[in-house]
Amino acid sequence: MKLYAPKYYEDFKCIADKCTHSCCIGWEIDVDDTAMLKYEKSKHYYAKKVLESIENSDTPHFKLSCEDRCPHLDSKGLCKIIINMGEEYLCDICREHPRFYNFTNYGKEMGIGMSCPEACRIILNSDDYNELDVIARGIGDTYRIDYDALIDREKIYSILKSDRGFNDKLNKICSEYQIDLKGISEKAYLDCIDSLEYLNNEHISLFFEFSIDATVSEKNEKYLERALAYFIYRHCTESMDFEDFKISLSFCVFCVLLLASLIQNNKDVYECARVISEEIEYNTDNIEKIKELFY
Ligand code: SF4
Repeated sequence: MKLYAPKYYEDFKCIADKCTHSCCIGWEIDVDDTAMLKYEKSKHYYAKKVLESIENSDTPHFKLSCEDRCPHLDSKGLCKIIINMGEEYLCDICREHPRFYNFTNYGKEMGIGMSCPEACRIILNSDDYNELDVIARGIGDTYRIDYDALIDREKIYSILKSDRGFNDKLNKICSEYQIDLKGISEKAYLDCIDSLEYLNNEHISLFFEFSIDATVSEKNEKYLERALAYFIYRHCTESMDFEDFKISLSFCVFCVLLLASLIQNNKDVYECARVISEEIEYNTDNIEKIKELFY
């Protein structure tokens, strides 16, 4: 089986101490069994500190500081596990973030998540979202399902790549896939936004700016197109059938309309996209609550 990634993936590199929203702050970081075994077996003096910093609950994780920082993040924003022991001692979640993986009938696809500011910058500036590179081979067996979501994904990408304005593209996609987001009341959207779980409660009032009729200015069209392509790549690819694809596509359109709503008053597009990703995409309950609007 081959591993594919969008062409822009080759531009990604963690910017560590230059990162404005480090993934080592604000998230619970789980320690996998393999990493735990490495820490237990290591004779390195820092391994003892790592073991002391782990909360041994059902899912072992690093005890965050009162400012929600990973205990191994130094004052310069660098990882003390890497500095002291080397990258091979990172747990899976730290090594992999912000990468995500999906299976298709043709192999495995990976991408980078928009909650990472550097990934977000690359995604919102890359027009080659429809081009994939093979980045590894022989990584296991492919599996096949009858429905091939990649055919529909390609159809949508060709609409996104066409020579129309963003609103036209969105209308065409919605009409081809019989998606009627305007058929849902504004109250239902706001109730749903209110019911989500938030990492930062200030984002509730931000998301309340959602409007189904958000105005899209010319300067934002390309950002919204690339964001929609990213959401579709991430959330529609593993659809089990056409209905499942349509629900996931509705979810993606909702996310891009939320982004359009937030940036219509000149808010920073990168920060808004990052916040939407961090608050929604990394919480499966939030994804499900939004999808329930479209069932
Ligand atoms: S959020 Fe991205 S750029 Fe920032 S520290 Fe994490 S992986 Fe690196």
